[in-house]
Amino acid sequence: MLFSIESCVLGKEKLGEIDYLVELLTPKGKIWAVAKGAQKSRRRFLNLLEDLTFLRAHLRRSKKGNLPILEKVDLLFLSERARRDLKTYIFFSYVSEVLSKISYSGLSSDYFEFIKKFIKEIDLYGVPFLAKTYFEQKLLLYLGMALNWESCVKCGRIPNRLAFLNISSGGILCVDCKTERNQPVERPVLELLQNIARLPVCFKNLENLEKSKIFEEKYLKKACEISEISFFFFLPFEIKSLKFLKNLNNGVGDEED
Ligand SMILES: [Zn+2]
Repeated sequence: MLFSIESCVLGKEKLGEIDYLVELLTPKGKIWAVAKGAQKSRRRFLNLLEDLTFLRAHLRRSKKGNLPILEKVDLLFLSERARRDLKTYIFFSYVSEVLSKISYSGLSSDYFEFIKKFIKEIDLYGVPFLAKTYFEQKLLLYLGMALNWESCVKCGRIPNRLAFLNISSGGILCVDCKTERNQPVERPVLELLQNIARLPVCFKNLENLEKSKIFEEKYLKKACEISEISFFFFLPFEIKSLKFLKNLNNGVGDEED
């Protein structure tokens, strides 16, 4: 029985001598499918089984317990930028590696649409300094683990001056609820995190945040640091491409081209 579904390629692995096992993210969750003969004849899939390519996948259900067979693919979207720009290529490796590790059964079509929009923005604008932080904070949101950067996670009050970081309880604490262990978060850093969490998928706005005079480089870097710690606190994966990405990201405001 044949069926078709919009998919985003998250990765592939060799299966025996000639086939590939392909990991696909779909609006209904993840699918593993067998691309027969794809190792021998790359033309069969027109080299489209690359990370973060959007396809209409035509699949055939096989016998019970076996993985579906990928019969044919139609290209929906492929980032040209990722093929010519190293920074985008490495960022895509990071994104697909993270998405591949997440096996959350509650994946929704909203989550899929977010990934699609996000990839398209990167194709248009390249990789802004805050792209990784934005991706981390939004992903946590779609996974139901969003951090609360707005109000004290204990008493619910909005801290009027000082806020203190408490990632393990999911956000910030006010001055009355904090303990000695909680580090204060500088106001601009907190505002940056709040802004990032609220932004729709629009890199123009993200770039405006980066350029804003309120958010000096040290604040941008601190917000990125806090975001990364919180992300890997809730999703403790080992991501191989992270090291490469961080080497690239060392300079704020570098042009990607
Ligand atoms: Zn409080």
